[in-house]
Amino acid sequence: TRFTASLEALDAAVPPARRVADRFAEVGRSAPGRFVSTPDTDPSVGANRVWADGILGRIEASTLGVDTVAAARVETEAELERLVAETVEAGRAWAELGAAERGAVLHRAGDVLEERRAELIEVMAAEAGKTIDQADPEVSEAVDFAHYYAERGLELEAVEGATFVPARLTLVTPPWNFPVAIPAGSALAALAAGSPVLFKPAGLSARSGALVAEALWAAGVPTEVLRLIDVDEETLGRQLVSHPAVDRVILTGAFETAELFRSFRPELPLLAETSGKNAIIVTPSADLDLTVKDVVASAFGHAGQKCSAASLVVLVGSVASSPRFRSQLMDAISSLPVGLPHVASTRMGPLIEAPGPKLREGLTTLGAGESWLIRPRALSTDDARLWGPGLRDGVARGSAFHRTEYFGPILGIMTAPTLDEAIDIVNEVDYGLTSGLHSLDRGEISTWLDRIEAGNLYVNRGITGAIVERQPFGGWKKSSVGAGAKAGGPNYLVNLGSWVPARATA
Ligand code: GLU
Repeated sequence: TRFTASLEALDAAVPPARRVADRFAEVGRSAPGRFVSTPDTDPSVGANRVWADGILGRIEASTLGVDTVAAARVETEAELERLVAETVEAGRAWAELGAAERGAVLHRAGDVLEERRAELIEVMAAEAGKTIDQADPEVSEAVDFAHYYAERGLELEAVEGATFVPARLTLVTPPWNFPVAIPAGSALAALAAGSPVLFKPAGLSARSGALVAEALWAAGVPTEVLRLIDVDEETLGRQLVSHPAVDRVILTGAFETAELFRSFRPELPLLAETSGKNAIIVTPSADLDLTVKDVVASAFGHAGQKCSAASLVVLVGSVASSPRFRSQLMDAISSLPVGLPHVASTRMGPLIEAPGPKLREGLTTLGAGESWLIRPRALSTDDARLWGPGLRDGVARGSAFHRTEYFGPILGIMTAPTLDEAIDIVNEVDYGLTSGLHSLDRGEISTWLDRIEAGNLYVNRGITGAIVERQPFGGWKKSSVGAGAKAGGPNYLVNLGSWVPARATA
């Protein structure tokens, strides 16, 4: 069977005004790419609030589900059961297509995502406050996932003596902070492995998620095989996670969310990337100019709202005792272009929403012995999402700032007399997602590589922006729950099904 679902088919089946794409028209969507070349809004922070609600409006999760034929607002248990049954059923034909045919669809998905780059960037800017320099590589990552998993899927059929049986159903629950790359990567992985997908976008960036689904449908993924769903997290979400037909759950989010899912269903087959509290160590041998650039990009890209972000910098020996590094870092942070995300020159945009109690504490409260080198400022009395970056000095070992993930634009400085002690400080944190070292000394680099406890290690570069295939992404300790597989790496797809003894083929 070949599936024929396409956007044309969707157009025919759904009253046009209800499609997501038409919402853009309703709210006055600009031509693709317009904002890149001619920012026509005032870039001064706080002076202009059009960046979000005024330009595109914000789609709420509750209004998402009815926009396309494949999106389902699931309100009752009976609807949930029917959705699960229908998706499992459609998934059988998808599995039977074989990896080569599925791979062809996935390669096309990569092409469609590429064609829609400008639109995806625009929506991420409007909805998640992503700056163009962050949203653009995010689209590239999604495209990379499509082509990469299309190829890896073929390997599942090349194992002698064993047959790969895809998960009957995979639930994909991505975060709001990478609203295109993470859902695309998670869904594409399951689809490459032959499993159908229920995709529940994050409420705060649901429109970006809907655009991802539309791109995959346009490429030929049947709408019954990739379901965009809108389900109340408090009520039916729990039942969905616990549903026995859901063979795999791909979650990216807080460690606490993974724990919550596990409490619903202890033996849940989970692939979860969770929180981080990541540090960059700087030794006296480092190239300090390069270090400052990488630290600033890692700490303040997307306003620090990444699991991979740097929120600590640990200065070793003379880097700690001389004023030079601190002063260069302060210069770089205080000259960071903070502002509207759709203005090409902006390097730090707004927070996704007004800070909650934990982030507010991180932005406003100092621990014992700490001081602000740059105090984070609320930049607008009208819009609580607009904050400037913060730099705190004197973070003590074992303190709240040493160990807590705040998920915002605040960097803390710690110091250590030796590299070994700096590594101890970093390893004391419960999480282990990304970690960085700036050093030009081979001995130091190998010591650090031997001892540091984190999933993604970066030497003399920033610690965000893992590249598919080159830097498979995933952590240790409380940064990973479940299978521990790395996204964008060679062993990811095998976790999305099981192996049985080879089946005779007719
Ligand atoms: N993969 C992203 C990176 O390398 C981080 C994803 C996340 O924050 O969850 O920066």
